[in-house]
Amino acid sequence: MKKKINVQFMALCAAAIVITALVSTALFYNVLEDQVFADLKAYAHIIRQTDPEKLTIGKDEMRITWVDRDGSVLYESQADGAAMENHSGRPEIKQAKQFGMAVNVRWSATLSTHTFYYAERLENGSVLRIAKQSGSISRVMVNTGLIILAISLATFLLCAFLAHYLTKRMAEPIERMAENLLLLDKSEVYEEIRPFVITIKEQHKNILRHAKMRQEFTANVSHELKTPLTAISGYAELMENGMAKEEDIRHFAKQIHANSSRLIMLINDIIKLSELDDEEFKIPFETFDLFLLAENTVDMMELPAKKQEVKLILSGEHVMLYAGKNLIDELLYNLVSNAIRYNVKGGTVWIRIRNADAQPMLEVEDTGIGIPGEHRERVFERFYRVDKSRSKSTGGTGLGLAIVKHIVVQHQAELTLESSEGAGTKIIVKFPFQAPKL
Ligand code: ADP
Repeated sequence: MKKKINVQFMALCAAAIVITALVSTALFYNVLEDQVFADLKAYAHIIRQTDPEKLTIGKDEMRITWVDRDGSVLYESQADGAAMENHSGRPEIKQAKQFGMAVNVRWSATLSTHTFYYAERLENGSVLRIAKQSGSISRVMVNTGLIILAISLATFLLCAFLAHYLTKRMAEPIERMAENLLLLDKSEVYEEIRPFVITIKEQHKNILRHAKMRQEFTANVSHELKTPLTAISGYAELMENGMAKEEDIRHFAKQIHANSSRLIMLINDIIKLSELDDEEFKIPFETFDLFLLAENTVDMMELPAKKQEVKLILSGEHVMLYAGKNLIDELLYNLVSNAIRYNVKGGTVWIRIRNADAQPMLEVEDTGIGIPGEHRERVFERFYRVDKSRSKSTGGTGLGLAIVKHIVVQHQAELTLESSEGAGTKIIVKFPFQAPKL
């Protein structure tokens, strides 16, 4: 970038300098020419009042010619007038005869000089012409040209130095930014680049946050897998070594079974989460009856509910929903399962399905232990449990609500959690659109 700005800045300077030099040279030449003609005119006026023969001043520099009406030369200061050819064809003589006065500049190839002519018609119709060769003018022009060239070169060098210095200063904050974006103070950054820096900083923080979350998740997963695996390995080892008594074998096998079921559940939940995390993973959407799906969940959960002595009550209306059916099934299962597992003996779980202002809505309410205020925000985090032992003993993986939250986000739905400790919990999911009527 620095090089590009430098080159462009210098090209701009060079163009400006060349234009300025050309224009000032042209202007200077015009002024000089005007001055020459003014001098010639003044000189002509003096001559008109004198006898040209007696003139001494300026005779070497100027040439005086007096031309009669017919073009014959009456007087010529630098030659014998009588011997000269007829001058009526000279443009300045012709014009002077016509307009009273004329100027002209002619280039002589043999002498390589310009000659400036000033001609004026006298009262009797003859024309007085004063000419001056450009030798001195050319000298002045060459000298001036050299001075302009020298000034141009000096200006260009100054520009080159300034371009280098300015681009260096301009690039400095950007280079510092590249060294350490996060430590950069906002005031040090150009105003135009500030939004860019803020976005990068945000993205950087997000990446770090994500990396940290992934690291924590991996650590948690490893830890969660380790416990049942250690138990399985321990029981199997006892049986292998013949250390298990006949009557223990059944108990050990039961433990191995329970722990491996737990492992399967954990792995299933982890797979579900990683599928939901995958942005490439497209959930197929379809239209289905949310009430029928809830009915199916209730049927499935009837047995575990009975074991916990919890009553399941489904109510509401048939609501068509356009969504990922398997995911909504998973969501229903997780919410109802939690409502049973964190309930009290003899408790109730209400599952309500309805249309609220054309928005399909599902509600799962229980009469369970509730979630204390300080935990309410965090229960949706992966592996976050209020009571770890109760979660594990009832077959929880700590991932159920994380999956629920993910599904809600994927469907652009809205989730509200109301809970009071010791009284129960109510979770409401409101979907954003109504499915087309079938
Ligand atoms: P888990 O598999 O442990 O149930 P979840 O992600 O489903 O994991 O829930 C996270 C935690 O939130 C649970 O461990 C539990 O402490 C609390 N929780 C979830 N649902 C309820 C509920 N209906 N009543 C009381 N506590 C709940």
